[in-house]
Amino acid sequence: MMLIDTHCHLNDEKLLPRAEEIVSNFDRDGIESAVCVGYDMPSSELAAELANKYDKLYAAIGIHPHDSVTADYDKYERLATLSSSQKVVGIGEIGLDYHYDNSPRAIQQGAFREQIELADTLGLPIILHVRDAYEEARRILFEMSAYLRNGVLLHCYSGSAEMVREFDKVDAYYAFGGAITFKNAKHNLEALCAVPRDRLLLETDCPYMTPVPFRGELNEPKYLSLVADRAAQLLGVERAELEEVTSKNAKTLFTRMK
Ligand SMILES: [Zn+2]
Ligand SMILES: [Zn+2]
Repeated sequence: MMLIDTHCHLNDEKLLPRAEEIVSNFDRDGIESAVCVGYDMPSSELAAELANKYDKLYAAIGIHPHDSVTADYDKYERLATLSSSQKVVGIGEIGLDYHYDNSPRAIQQGAFREQIELADTLGLPIILHVRDAYEEARRILFEMSAYLRNGVLLHCYSGSAEMVREFDKVDAYYAFGGAITFKNAKHNLEALCAVPRDRLLLETDCPYMTPVPFRGELNEPKYLSLVADRAAQLLGVERAELEEVTSKNAKTLFTRMK
């Protein structure tokens, strides 16, 4: 039994030069497979390219809320073309980021809605990046619930435990990463404990969110083990059981994953 890293950025310039080496160590590091996630067009193209090259790597493609100003129908068409590869397992990361507000909020909402529709047309689940905007994300998801038949994943979930009850109404999945190993993680730990066991996923979000005790270094899929240890400890389950459950959940959500 091994772990699935549902959110990594081997397409990031910091990790890309070592992508080959990192993937070739997956077996040694206890990683069954990983999803390389795009955030704009170049990184989405690269994610699809890497996934087509490496057996154990899958891709998600989409335009991040930071880059919503760059979204247009030509790009959506390109995303649709890229998604014809069976190694593309989802549309993301898409969503709302009201923490940085790198794109105006109205434009973030527009690109978010358009990519929810795109994912529905393509029959793929969506991977959401939401920061300081959980209430707005909830409102949009509820309004567009008819388009969510292929599944919703809240990556790097940092909302409240109460909000989990709300997102449960659209059968959301929740991914947790390095943040649950941090000292000030109380809020995240409460949320993790509130998540239905069959909706729980793990991720690194590497090169970001490096878990304790490696904070300050670049994150990599191999550190997912530390996240898994902490989650198992917190939930009071054996590590093997946690691996089994989270890997099964990943394959249920990402139907193209083998
Ligand atoms: Zn993100
Ligand atoms: Zn990310």
